[in-house]
Amino acid sequence: MRDIPDHPVIQNCERTGYPDGKDPVYPICPVCGCASDTFYKDKYGDIFGCDECVTTVDAWEATSDERN
Ligand SMILES: [Zn+2]
Repeated sequence: MRDIPDHPVIQNCERTGYPDGKDPVYPICPVCGCASDTFYKDKYGDIFGCDECVTTVDAWEATSDERN
């Protein structure tokens, strides 16, 4: 039986995990410069951060000092 090589896409996937053999180029956050696949936009459609530089907090805890 002949040893038939896999299709190049299969070979690339096995070697690198990606069909074209290259790492995907991730979008860069305009605020912090980190590569991210999630950006956050304000109501005007402007990006103000990404997963790396934006966090969420509990609003009750964040304002507890102001309410006292
Ligand atoms: Zn960011």
